[in-house]
Amino acid sequence: MSELTESARCLIIGSGPGGYTAAIYAARADLKPLIYQGMQPGGQLTITTEVDNFPGYPKGITGPEMMEQFKEQAERFGTQVRSGVVTAVDFSKRPFIVTADDGKTIAAETVIIATGASAKWLGMESEKKFMGMGVSGCATCDGFFYRGQDVVIVGGGDTAAEEATYLAKLCKKVYMVHRRGELRASKAMQHKVLNTPNIEMVWNNAPEEVLGDDNGVTGVRVRNVKTGESRDLQAMGLFVAIGHKPNTEIFASQVDLDEMNYVITKPGTTQTSVEGVFACGDVQDHHYRQAITAAGTGCMAAIEAERYLGS
Ligand code: NDP
Repeated sequence: MSELTESARCLIIGSGPGGYTAAIYAARADLKPLIYQGMQPGGQLTITTEVDNFPGYPKGITGPEMMEQFKEQAERFGTQVRSGVVTAVDFSKRPFIVTADDGKTIAAETVIIATGASAKWLGMESEKKFMGMGVSGCATCDGFFYRGQDVVIVGGGDTAAEEATYLAKLCKKVYMVHRRGELRASKAMQHKVLNTPNIEMVWNNAPEEVLGDDNGVTGVRVRNVKTGESRDLQAMGLFVAIGHKPNTEIFASQVDLDEMNYVITKPGTTQTSVEGVFACGDVQDHHYRQAITAAGTGCMAAIEAERYLGS
């Protein structure tokens, strides 16, 4: 390990709504937080377009703009924001030791894990091209923009099923594309999906290409994995709901994770299995996954860190 170069009362790893809200509260509590922004500064919201469901923005705001404002607000109270990725942590000793890819090693009295969860994507070039222009990873966030239109959702798990039924309330028609002939979702969710008249199941199909023009998505070309036949589904939006991956690799042997590798927190708190280490936002939440809930738990984490330091 490199030589210890600095110390911090509160070190925050990750810069989505959870991390920045923790920073705002920690800075105002005089903890002089240091935040490492991580792989995707600003987090998942920086890959969306309009955010219309965050209270306080009656006219909406773009995800990247909103995250810039979170950052400004955190800095206004003295948060030190660093671009860089934390590569290793050692929570077995106190202060905790955190190493980053900028060559710094920090001795931290408290750590707030806010590294989020990344949506899994299909991996097509055209999916990347139309990201934020019709391709989305969150129906709750973006479904509203497709009111009265036809959309495609890909996936067969509980998330896809839940999002398909949500979209069906807003959209004219929802094509649910699944690579097998049977859903993975719970029986109750399957029942709901299969009994919603404007959801059309497209079984045994995998997206091949996202079709579109300068204005965004116009459809999705899918291929039947059994017959090899292709078909174009006309739609203005493609929702990818094939799962999320919590960004917890570096914490695997340091704090308790659940069977899906999300950080386990004590119910009603952000306390992890290590005292003084807290977790907020999507890295500990595979249920709500909203900016506002991440911000809420970020606030909790900072208050709990302050109390821990004062105790
Ligand atoms: P899952 O891993 O359960 O499901 C992912 C789905 O995407 C599967 O149907 C899978 O297909 C499909 N898939 C994966 N990769 C690809 C790919 N490359 N191309 C096409 N399809 C793909 O993820 P979820 O996000 O749905 O759920 C995660 C966990 O959260 C689950 O345990 C779920 O039960 C839980 N959850 C619970 C909810 C609730 O209780 N209300 C709501 C949402 C989630 P295949 O089936 O063939 O593997």
